Amino acid sequence: MIKLVYMSADLHIHSSFSDGTETPTQIVQKSKAAGLEIISITDHDTIAGIPEAFAAAQGTGVEVIPAVELSTELDKSELHIIGYFIDQKNGELLSLLKKRQNGRRERIYKIFNLLKNIGIEIDPKEAFDLAGHESAGRPHVARVLIKNGIAANIKDAFRNYLTPGKPAYVPHFVLHPKEAIETIKKSGGCSVLAHPAVSNRDDLIPELIGYGLCGIEVYYTSHREEQIKHYIQVAKKYGLHITGGSDYHGENSGREIKLGDFKFDKALVEELKK
Ligand code: AMP
Ligand code: FE
Ligand code: FE
Ligand code: ZN
Repeated sequence: MIKLVYMSADLHIHSSFSDGTETPTQIVQKSKAAGLEIISITDHDTIAGIPEAFAAAQGTGVEVIPAVELSTELDKSELHIIGYFIDQKNGELLSLLKKRQNGRRERIYKIFNLLKNIGIEIDPKEAFDLAGHESAGRPHVARVLIKNGIAANIKDAFRNYLTPGKPAYVPHFVLHPKEAIETIKKSGGCSVLAHPAVSNRDDLIPELIGYGLCGIEVYYTSHREEQIKHYIQVAKKYGLHITGGSDYHGENSGREIKLGDFKFDKALVEELKK
């Protein structure tokens, strides 16, 4: 039997409800134009953009899978966990997200305080206004620094101010992957380890599986051919589902990629659904 491969899925996209620059409606429209059939909005710490994505997808033939991306920390490494097929009404998930969003808001104030300490005085309100919500992140701060003539571009802002060891770096409050994965599980979702080659901590995968990890993002914009081959083997070894995503953040986000440049086999999403 011939197995048909439809390269038409992208399960990792950020909207303006977190740190992307485009609305869920714009993302769905661009996905349709780019030939994507299955997409996921994977905003950081929020599911608020999903209803708009569902509404925009009506009648377009684009399927939207509800999801959320959580930054967790284990053994001093940042591990991003994406929950797919989550129940958007689940109380425990909502309360975890609320906690994360409050943490993000406090963190923005701390970042601007640190900037003030080094003589850069900017009202944190600028970041919240730019984001259009209170769950802002470092990319919003980076854009505010550019607007105020402090940084030349996003990369520059991260490199000089916002990364570990730099004067305005503030980590997230620590979320253990156990809590993230168990909460996603309780909401009926499947937890996937995002961009494993970026975190580069294969040694922690068995522990994550112990907490209930069910998949791994093998296909990813910055994953090289040999890394993809390696993570296919890892997935096989542990019986993990294989997913893929672009991590698109919009066209003016400081990242080069366009929606539709990255696509993976939608048959793998059917596997995930089961
Ligand atoms: P936060 O969740 O607020 O810590 O911000 C993390 C987000 O910042 C990531 O999801 C990326 O969108 C973005 N990001 C992280 N590092 C960089 C970088 N070096 N240059 C540009 N964007 C970055
Ligand atoms: Fe992001
Ligand atoms: Fe991530
Ligand atoms: Zn992401």
